Amino acid sequence: MTNFKKNVYTFGNKSAEGDASMKNLLGGKGANLCEMNLIGVPVPPGFTITTEMCKVYIKEGRETVLKMIKTEVEEAIVHIENQMGSQFANSSNPCLVSVRSGSRASMPGMMDTILNLGLNDEAVEGLIQKTANARFVWDSYRRFVQMYGSVVLGVKAFSKEDQDPFEEIIDQLKEEKGVKLDNEFTADDLKEMVVRFKKVVKKVTNKDFPSDPWEQLWGAITSVFNSWMNERAIYYRELNNIPEEWGTAVNIQAMVFGNMGINSATGVAFTRDASTGEDLFNGEYLINAQGEDVVAGIRTPQQITLEGSKRWAKLAAVSEEDRVCNFPSLEETMPEIFKELMEIETKLEVHYKDMQDIEFTIQDGKLWMLQTRSGKRTGAAMVKMAVDMYEENLLDEKTAILRVEPNKLDELLHPIFDKKALKTAKVLAQGLPASPGAATGQIVFFAEDAEEWTKKGHKIILVRMETSPEDLKGMVVAEGILTARGGMTSHAAVVARGMGKCCVSGADSLKIDYKTRTVEINGLTLKEGDWISLNGSTGEVYQGKIATTEAVLNEDFDKLMALADKHARLEVRTNADTPQDAQIARNFGAKGIGLCRTEHMFFEDIKIKAMREMILADDEAGRRTALAKLLPMQRDDLEGIFKAMEGLPVTVRLLDPPLHEFVPHTEESQKQMAEEMGVSIKAVREKIESLHEFNPMLGHRGCRLGNTYPEISEMQTRAIIEAAINLKKEGIKTYPEIMIPLTGTLTEMEMQKQIVIATAEKIFTERNDRIEYLIGSMIEVPRAALMADKIAESAEFFSFGTNDLTQMTFGYSRDDTGKFLPFYLKKGILKQDPFQVLDQEGVGKLIHLATQKGLSSRPNLKIGICGEHGGEPSSVEFCHSVGMHYVSCSPFRVPIARLAAAQAAIKESLAIEKKRTRREDSKKESIKNEHEKTLEFASV
Ligand code: ADP
Ligand code: MG
Ligand code: MG
Repeated sequence: MTNFKKNVYTFGNKSAEGDASMKNLLGGKGANLCEMNLIGVPVPPGFTITTEMCKVYIKEGRETVLKMIKTEVEEAIVHIENQMGSQFANSSNPCLVSVRSGSRASMPGMMDTILNLGLNDEAVEGLIQKTANARFVWDSYRRFVQMYGSVVLGVKAFSKEDQDPFEEIIDQLKEEKGVKLDNEFTADDLKEMVVRFKKVVKKVTNKDFPSDPWEQLWGAITSVFNSWMNERAIYYRELNNIPEEWGTAVNIQAMVFGNMGINSATGVAFTRDASTGEDLFNGEYLINAQGEDVVAGIRTPQQITLEGSKRWAKLAAVSEEDRVCNFPSLEETMPEIFKELMEIETKLEVHYKDMQDIEFTIQDGKLWMLQTRSGKRTGAAMVKMAVDMYEENLLDEKTAILRVEPNKLDELLHPIFDKKALKTAKVLAQGLPASPGAATGQIVFFAEDAEEWTKKGHKIILVRMETSPEDLKGMVVAEGILTARGGMTSHAAVVARGMGKCCVSGADSLKIDYKTRTVEINGLTLKEGDWISLNGSTGEVYQGKIATTEAVLNEDFDKLMALADKHARLEVRTNADTPQDAQIARNFGAKGIGLCRTEHMFFEDIKIKAMREMILADDEAGRRTALAKLLPMQRDDLEGIFKAMEGLPVTVRLLDPPLHEFVPHTEESQKQMAEEMGVSIKAVREKIESLHEFNPMLGHRGCRLGNTYPEISEMQTRAIIEAAINLKKEGIKTYPEIMIPLTGTLTEMEMQKQIVIATAEKIFTERNDRIEYLIGSMIEVPRAALMADKIAESAEFFSFGTNDLTQMTFGYSRDDTGKFLPFYLKKGILKQDPFQVLDQEGVGKLIHLATQKGLSSRPNLKIGICGEHGGEPSSVEFCHSVGMHYVSCSPFRVPIARLAAAQAAIKESLAIEKKRTRREDSKKESIKNEHEKTLEFASV
């Protein structure tokens, strides 16, 4: 079988067979090593074995791959030899190489690197002859035996408690020779180290350390392929959603040596500050060192710039004298090299148009670059860099906007833990990062207690098995919420996100005992009043107090948002039930409310009493009496919200949840209620029992309530319309949109619409005034989506309630997914939690269909989404693509949605542009061909 495909790509001496666009095939490291050569940056010569070979290795094994690459690798080694003027596997003039992994996405430190490969006892002598630097040669050899021994031959510590056998030998030798740091060993010490290292290898593997460089090389290549499947790599891929299919490339590169003495060094650097985004070149280096010594913390690394060095000294409480003497910057020790490094970092950043994370080595006064990649950064840094680079004309507007990951904006909006304080904090449990932020407070288990405690000035964390609407008031006053059960769309999570409150949900190691008011976490028992802290961005639960700092939104954030709004076609509204939330969202740029849940207003003291009275009433007359009490309160609430949203539309949803959620469930509160209402506790209990449903979420709720008890819809309509008219008198413009929940048939919708219209008209006559309003439908029952053209005959707008729509399309009870969803995700049955990321394939198909059908019968139908997905970037992009007019999400997700909306529009326009140029190119091509044909014909 002949293999025509190229499996190995070489680079070196300012030329390369690959380039930066070939990351899929060559991995990020390999592609960028090629690219650096192409732009004239000094890089040691080498070659890359493609990721395709990793796939073959995993499928067909070692023998097949080695056969496929043998000749190419041998030729590529000659390519290195020619450039280096030395020879691989030659003892008198040996060429040494490094063997490095490198996949498509950067997985820093996840896989192993082997340096100084090609050394053996004879080559050591040859190299000493050549360099006259015995210490350097023995240092390289001992490093090689150690790396190869642990990575390829698997010599490791026996257990977690044991020390790495190589490290143990180093420590022993340090003691014997009386040295503290590894760079103090003499050549003889290092020679002794090699002898002992080899002994360990022999003992563990029962074989001599391989002395044949070719055997070493094939072993190392195999080992890099293997490392793709090691535990660390698998875990990292899981965390970062990197597919296993990608595989890793193998990079083999001529060694350059940072360990040749005081004119040599190795280091890493960032072209800008990865945590703040400031345009500050920074990094660390070590003199007379190799590879990852800098990162591994073997010695205290030194700063690259003088400025950085001074700042570091201050933090580390190192005097200027001490700094200059023991920790000088590269700028001071090697000013010429420093200048060259600055030139290269600028060149790289300008070339890649992004902040670069670079690795370099200085061999005896000559600078070599070993890696460059786009550096990881915090959300704040991401925003600042994008805006700065746009202003520096390094990026155009569209690219700058696309550069920021919308979800990372979250980090900018919530108070954060002090980084220093976190270092000493003890992690008690791990839950889901349900709502970001940092919270510290005293444990309280009950909502009522939460209120009492906070009234007395305590800061509390509400710790619950799970939360229900009854706990809302406790949640409002809490610093944070911690639940043992429930997922990312559990009540606690959704409400907390809405309030921008920190929440960790589903921390299943919590054993809560409400009776004793204690919670046991992994053997530790905490009681009411004990301090804990939550990190809502990571899901970590800490013991005790941790200091926080307020997040402040900066100018860069505003600039980015202004740029985004220029491009977005989708409007962003918010889901808000209170004037406070509405105001927060408005500050974040919301263009209206897409979902105001009226039921949330009913949970406050007096309101819930009237509500319960309504529910427990035996007939319409009783219900009307209770509703009359609710009316003024609801109207007031709505006035507050309309006012906060002055001049912008507000979608008010009529009562949605099953009534059972409003009634008291504890004996005590049932008794209290019976007293207040002047009925027997038995009557109360019977009524509550009669409200019991087997599947309340599929039961008596939504418009089914309004259609069986029209007086509820009447009262709510009255509250909405009267609030709007009252404000009109004050000169405040409102645009109410009345939304009917859970409609599934045209008749259901139409019946509600008639109630709303009749009530509104009545008020208009009473008040001798009118206002504009819309009546629309939530689309959240699959049938509604299927019958959308019918429903749009009645509804003036659609709002996709994708939480329920997902629940009903999949048939997954949203509150019970905890039992199977984690498993489904792990096994890959589902790729993502459909309650977090819209299932575009299935649920999306319904949305697409409903949008088209809706518009077919009402061309000016207004269409939006108000489910949790409205703030999730990939779902926002989908909403854009189906032609919705707006998305609505919780206040703290508004900026995320605004950015995602802009990105969706930009991606679309770029795709169209690309198509157009492709079409034009092919047109030109065909004209050219025609022309040539004519010429040919003429010449005949
Ligand atoms: P990682 O992917 O973990 O960053 P690398 O393959 O970049 O691993 O290797 C780690 C370090 O080893 C590099 O930062 C560099 O310092 C050193 N290194 C790798 N190849 C060479 C080489 N050819 N010459 C000198 N040092 C090298
Ligand atoms: Mg590494
Ligand atoms: Mg690296």
